[in-house]
Amino acid sequence: MGQLKFQGIRGMNDILPQQSGLWAALENQLYQWLAEYGYSEIRTPIVEDTALFIRSIGEVTDIVEKEMYSFEDRLNQDSLTLRPEGTASCVRSVIEHNLLYNGPQKLWYQGPMFRHERPQKGRYRQFHQCGVEALGYNGPDIDAEMIMMTHRLWQHLGLKQVSLEINSIGSLETRQAYRSRLIEYFSEHQDLLDEDSKRRLHSNPLRILDSKNPELAQSIEKAPKLLDQLDDYSKTHFERLRELLDHAGLNYTINPRLVRGLDYYNATVFEWTTTLLGAQSTICGGGRYDRLVEQLGGKPTPACGFAMGLERLLALIEEEGRLTPLPTEPQVFIIHQGVGTLEAAFTIAEELRDHGVRVLMYCGDAGFKNQMKRADHSQAHYALIIGENELTSGQYALKPLRGQGEQRLVSRSELINYFNEK
Ligand code: ATP
Ligand code: MG
Repeated sequence: MGQLKFQGIRGMNDILPQQSGLWAALENQLYQWLAEYGYSEIRTPIVEDTALFIRSIGEVTDIVEKEMYSFEDRLNQDSLTLRPEGTASCVRSVIEHNLLYNGPQKLWYQGPMFRHERPQKGRYRQFHQCGVEALGYNGPDIDAEMIMMTHRLWQHLGLKQVSLEINSIGSLETRQAYRSRLIEYFSEHQDLLDEDSKRRLHSNPLRILDSKNPELAQSIEKAPKLLDQLDDYSKTHFERLRELLDHAGLNYTINPRLVRGLDYYNATVFEWTTTLLGAQSTICGGGRYDRLVEQLGGKPTPACGFAMGLERLLALIEEEGRLTPLPTEPQVFIIHQGVGTLEAAFTIAEELRDHGVRVLMYCGDAGFKNQMKRADHSQAHYALIIGENELTSGQYALKPLRGQGEQRLVSRSELINYFNEK
């Protein structure tokens, strides 16, 4: 018989015990940070109607054209998609449950997203995002606050080599007018365009500006800039945003080519990038999406949001940041041998856990020596030895496993006090 051997899906990672402590620590930091800014968590399903994503992200975008995991539910022929991002689901849920009835909403979400991209360092087919959405806010105060709050997170995490780019892509109407000028310009330079850009020339010319093809860089550089043709509203909005960022002492560059890959954005867009992660350099991106709620069937509601890639964030933290994994190693490893010692071990283990001590009890039928070896390998701070003698005397041997210190005898109550004080 051939051996069955399964592998995970390409581009989708297991997070092994060795790394999960760091993930949990990051998630903890995020919880605390988001609470500091008054955001509440929303959890939506990982699968939605395919049409929801097409309608919000836009038909002529990388995500919708080539990155979505879409499938037909064989049982009822529904067309479903694994979520490639979180904003669409969040807005869908807010409309469906009428959350805006209670006033503006500050929401956040976290979890896996799915995009069928070419896997490489910092780019996966299942990856995790933490996203923040403020619905019912006109800005630019909320835009500024969102940028400030991301900056604060980088400070919490000890990240220094991150820089901020901002831009305004104007109103939908301004973009329409600009679109025609851009088509005109790139039509004159068609010979320089690559296949992707040629295809997009008439359907979504703004995306050409976002191209990462170095051969296009020059003609993109010389293309007319939307920033020079902003409508009055977007212009004032952008100026005020800049004042607020300046007042907060935040450094930024204005990048007129920053358009972001999703159609729903308008006015403010921003990205945080780093030079430490190679090609996959964007750790966070966002902007305003004032028409999306309406587009998805809700009442017109101004909104702003951003999302960060947690894999990239963790990679950056490994390069230059600080984040202490939550302690998960056992404080005590309980070794037991002899008649009645298993029962006693259970009782003592539970008693210690009542006091919040992390206890790993040996389960199995190894002898004393092997149990001791396991204790050594377990990363536990101490081994607690329960033998028949200890049972009769009521004194248990507590042996330090790391560093210095002598083995000593302790009673049950001493044991609890000992760890309570730690
Ligand atoms: P990129 O230009 O790198 O493809 P994007 O513009 O598609 O990014 P967004 O849709 O704005 O990314 O998502 C926000 C963040 O999510 C990104 O800045 C990045 O940190 C992360 N991210 C996006 N796609 C992936 C992926 N395939 N693997 C890992 N992280 C990702
Ligand atoms: Mg992308």
